[in-house]
Amino acid sequence: MSPIRPENRNLYPPDWAAISEYIRFGRAGGRCECEGECGRGTHKGRCPNVHGGRAYGTGSTVVLTTAHLDHVPEHVAESNLRAFCQGCHLHYDRQHHAETAYRTRREGKAAGDLFA
Ligand SMILES: [Zn+2]
Ligand SMILES: [Zn+2]
Repeated sequence: MSPIRPENRNLYPPDWAAISEYIRFGRAGGRCECEGECGRGTHKGRCPNVHGGRAYGTGSTVVLTTAHLDHVPEHVAESNLRAFCQGCHLHYDRQHHAETAYRTRREGKAAGDLFA
């Protein structure tokens, strides 16, 4: 169920479907495991969204996905995986992308300074 970008597909282990299934339904019991890691600040404590239920706020159907906390697809240790609803997952990834862009800009500037 987790959207996999084509360029990352070969980085996922062959048993990813089973791992993801276990995290979302075995460990998380079908409920979003986010306890604020997403940073969107709209839920206190653990996110109340349950797979197949109505998402708080938007009322859309919740789809649980399995997120990598370090954003590295081949890191599938349980401690690196979280069952996130789409809202938490999107927000979590967006934060990461913003940080990456910031770091890239900063490093680009630093590299430029070396040659200035
Ligand atoms: Zn959530
Ligand atoms: Zn969250």
